[in-house]
Amino acid sequence: MVVVMQEGANEEQIQNVIERLIQMGFDVHRSTGAAHTVLGAVGGAAVDHRDIELLEGVREVIKISASYKLASRAFKPDGTVVTVGPPGRQIKIGGRHVVMMAGPCTVESAEQVSTIAGIMSDCGIRVLRGGAFKPRTSPYSFQGMGEEGLKVLRDAADKHNLLVVSEIMNQTQIPMFLKYVDILQVGARNMQNFDLLKELAKVRRPVLLKRGPSATIEEWLLSAEYIMTGGNHDVILCERGIRTFENYTRNTLDISAIPVIKKLSHLPILVDPSHGTGRRDKVAPMARAAVAAGADGLLIEVHHAPETALCDGAQSLYPNQFRELMSQLNIIAPAVQRAMM
Ligand code: PEP
Ligand code: MN
Repeated sequence: MVVVMQEGANEEQIQNVIERLIQMGFDVHRSTGAAHTVLGAVGGAAVDHRDIELLEGVREVIKISASYKLASRAFKPDGTVVTVGPPGRQIKIGGRHVVMMAGPCTVESAEQVSTIAGIMSDCGIRVLRGGAFKPRTSPYSFQGMGEEGLKVLRDAADKHNLLVVSEIMNQTQIPMFLKYVDILQVGARNMQNFDLLKELAKVRRPVLLKRGPSATIEEWLLSAEYIMTGGNHDVILCERGIRTFENYTRNTLDISAIPVIKKLSHLPILVDPSHGTGRRDKVAPMARAAVAAGADGLLIEVHHAPETALCDGAQSLYPNQFRELMSQLNIIAPAVQRAMM
């Protein structure tokens, strides 16, 4: 259930409600909105909600019927803005700005990443993507550079004042990733790796949670809930296409997931049109559609020489295509009351 405090409820009243909820066996998650403090109470036994409603300072108690609670819009009507990066270099995701994250599918070498990071920075991009540990369908495909790849990413990002997002594969890698990355990416194949999600719940670093190729929106939000119940509320969702009977494109990018998530949840949502389509010529149209539909950002693969890329060259944009897309998005974003960052 969600307890909405009255506007102007004082700290003593809030603490009193929190204590009562804890006595009743709930875990309490507090969220301070523009007007109201909201307390999300999860777990606990069935209680008569009037017992809470009658406490001083309480405006209303909302029973949440959805299976996810902390990820639901009722818990945080204002929408979450996730702050990414160290002090002095922070950016916000979920606010007015549409945030671009771009870079190669895979870290291949220091030269490759440095070249692409330079291009990204010239385009005004603030977050560099790149996989150092790659979840490949075939065990014979390139598996990534590993920790060396993370170092290469970090160095190139620091040189160009960029932040880093990279995919983590399992919970044993968390301490290593915390040394190098600003956003921990959970890949589509790991969306229901519950051991990983439970450990990510304990860290205080934003998590980019991709939608599983066969996951419903409810299952996706429940995976977000795993991370949030441990106290890590900095979850950014990423729609990357789902598996359907259509096989012209690599996946079917579910653009409608954007307004659906906006209604059901307060979490920011990005779109990855690269994995969503698997074809370079389809990336820009879907990127434009995603921004028009209300996405909070895009995750896009860009490579300076995609024909030589070790992974996903066919869906990587050439730098000039990326620049052109940026100029188009600069026109689209204001039409939906947003601005590009
Ligand atoms: C990626 O972004 O590098 C990636 C592997 O994507 P996904 O998990 O969506 O397949
Ligand atoms: Mn890729």
